[in-house]
Amino acid sequence: MSLNTQILLGTLFGLLLGAGLRYLGVDEPFSQQVLYFSGLMGSLFIDLLKMILTPLIFTSIAIGVANLRVHDQMHKVWQITLLCSLLTTTLSIIIGLSAAHIFHPGQGLTLLSFQEATHGFQAAQLTLPEFFQKFLHGLFVNPFAALSQGIVLPIVVFALFVGIAIAAQAERYPNTTKLLEEGFALTMTLVRWVMVLAPFGIMALLTKLVATENPALLGSLAKFVAVVTGTTVFHGLVVLPLILIVFARVSPLRFWRGARPALLTAFATSSSSATMPVTMDCLEKELGVSRGVTGFVVPLGAHLNMDGTALYEAAAALFVANLAGIDLTLGQQLVVCFTVMLASIGAPGIPSAGMVTMVMVLQSVGLPAEAIAILLPIDRILDTVRTMVNVEGDMVTSMIVQKATG
Ligand code: ASP
Repeated sequence: MSLNTQILLGTLFGLLLGAGLRYLGVDEPFSQQVLYFSGLMGSLFIDLLKMILTPLIFTSIAIGVANLRVHDQMHKVWQITLLCSLLTTTLSIIIGLSAAHIFHPGQGLTLLSFQEATHGFQAAQLTLPEFFQKFLHGLFVNPFAALSQGIVLPIVVFALFVGIAIAAQAERYPNTTKLLEEGFALTMTLVRWVMVLAPFGIMALLTKLVATENPALLGSLAKFVAVVTGTTVFHGLVVLPLILIVFARVSPLRFWRGARPALLTAFATSSSSATMPVTMDCLEKELGVSRGVTGFVVPLGAHLNMDGTALYEAAAALFVANLAGIDLTLGQQLVVCFTVMLASIGAPGIPSAGMVTMVMVLQSVGLPAEAIAILLPIDRILDTVRTMVNVEGDMVTSMIVQKATG
């Protein structure tokens, strides 16, 4: 049985088991035991993915950039990656804002039922300039500290510098290049070993997710959830495939068949960073993208290119404005657009990261940051779909870059 089928089965079993436990009652001793084991298994799977993440990011970006020199196409790859990210993120923000305007989620919803959650939440008080300053300072950090603590963005920046230095003077560093190449190949071997466990990890994660989410709370926010999920799915099923057809000339069906393990892993882990090894594997093995391209585009995209997060944050800003009874002016909505762009870039590819940067979006137009507490209970559900679209965006970008650079 292929890994693809195993993951699909794991997903199905996870959903069924979660629903079964919910039916049985999550407080029953049997359910508690199953939930304990699925919680442990799920978190161990994520731990394993995180363990290989840091060496993977560093070696893949450094060697990805260094190897592009061989094709003399580094320039093109950079430009296309950035243009694609900008295009897809802008489109997703426009879709998020439009959906909120058309469906008016939040109107008629009382904040009272969520007061308890609002009560306990202390938002980080960061203004836009403060956030920007913090973001820029976070780029250039002692690489050893960043590597040891697994802080992704400065690792990406340092790996880029190392890759560019090697690309510029390759003849001076043949041993370093070889070391990085072997390091990357070795990491990918570990990735494949971890992936053997993916069906079980995904099953465990989904079991816990389905069994423990509070349906009453989700019910109250049903409209918002439906609007965000619907538009995120629309972006993933219509907008991104159209971009794929126009710019990469690839059929969406073929794409989805190859991308399925990565998209399902993204759905189950809610982390584009943790999914990265699978994303690269699918692109290389199933979709014919070269290692030079995936090694550059995927790690960069997993951190900087987040369509689902941007769409969600744009829609959520208007949702909160509706709840607060505030009509945002056109100017304020433009500020929301720009801030959402920065917020999606600044959010690392980990579960609920979008929640953290959502604070700056709300504050940029004077909405109460505390309103985030309303969004917290439903975040686990929404994070699944938006992470899936985040990863799909990275994969589409990789395919376009591959097409453009041959
Ligand atoms: N979980 C998302 C990701 O990893 C980030 C977010 O919270 O929006 O891509």
